[in-house]
Amino acid sequence: MRFHQSESAFFVLITVILTAGVLTVHAYDVLQQLHQLMIEPGHSESVVYLSKLLFSTGVLLATALFFGIFFIYPQIRTQVKEEGKLRAMTASLSARSETLEHAALTDGLTGMQNRRYFDEALKEYLAEFRRIDKPVGLMILDLDHFKQVNDTHGHDIGDDVLRAVAKCLGDMTRYHDVVARLGGEEFAVVAPNMDADTLVRFAERIRKAIAATTVFSGNVRLKITASVGLAVWDRKEAAEEFFRRADKQLYHAKRQGRNRVCA
Ligand code: GH3
Ligand code: MG
Ligand code: MG
Repeated sequence: MRFHQSESAFFVLITVILTAGVLTVHAYDVLQQLHQLMIEPGHSESVVYLSKLLFSTGVLLATALFFGIFFIYPQIRTQVKEEGKLRAMTASLSARSETLEHAALTDGLTGMQNRRYFDEALKEYLAEFRRIDKPVGLMILDLDHFKQVNDTHGHDIGDDVLRAVAKCLGDMTRYHDVVARLGGEEFAVVAPNMDADTLVRFAERIRKAIAATTVFSGNVRLKITASVGLAVWDRKEAAEEFFRRADKQLYHAKRQGRNRVCA
C-alpha cells in the first residue's frame, strides 16, 4: 500500500508524539523513585510539582494523539481519496481530448490526414521553408471517373478503391511528406525539398503505382487511374494561391484526357 505525502508526514508526527509520551512516562517513573528516596523534606514540594507537570504533559500528548488519529487522520484520508479521483478524471479527460483531436484531423474512411490537417500543415511547411529557403512541391490527385465505379459496382467497392489508393499513397511517399484525403476522391501530397523535375518524376511514379493498384469487384478487376496537378512553391505566394495553381494543373490533366500528370 502506498501512502500519500501528507499521510506519511502525519505518521511521522504521530511517532514523534508517541515517543515524547513514552519519554514523559519514563521521566514520571524516575521522578517517583526519586521522591521515595528523598530525605530532605524541603525539596519534596518541587518534586511533587514536577510530577504534576510531567503528568499534565502526558495528558496533553495523549489528547494530541487522540485528536490526530480520530479527527485529523480521517480528513487527510478523505482529501487523499478526492485528490486521487480528480487526478484519474484529469487523465481520462486529457486522453479523451487527444482522441478527439486525432479524430478531428483524421479521415475516418482511409485513416489518412484530412483536409483540416492538410490546410494547417501546408501553411506551417511554407512558413518553415521560407525561413530555410528550400523548395516545396504540391501534388493534387483526383481519381478518374470515380462516380462510374460507385454507379457500376456500388459504394462499398468505391470505398475499397479509396482505401487502396490511400495505402498506395502511403507506401509511395516519404515520412516527411504530408499525405491527405482532401475529400471525396481527391488527395494531396505536400513534398518538401522537391524541385520541378524531381516532383514530376515523383508524381509519375505515384500515377503509375495507382494505375497498377488492384481492386476486385467479384471477378472484375477495376481500372483505377488518377489525374495529377503539380506546382512548386514560388517562395512568395500564400498557401491558397499555391494550392490554386496546382488545382489548375489538375484541371488541365483532366481536360487533356485523364491518367496523366500536368505541371
Ligand atoms: P472525374 O474523372 O472528372 O474526376 O470524374 P469523377 O466521376 O471521378 O468525378 P465526380 O466529381 O463526378 O464524382 C466523384 C464521385 O466520388 C461522386 C461521389 O459519389 C464519389 N464519392 C465521394 N466521396 C465518396 C466516398 O467517401 N465513398 C465513395 N464510395 N464514393 C465517394
Ligand atoms: Mg474524380
Ligand atoms: Mg473530384
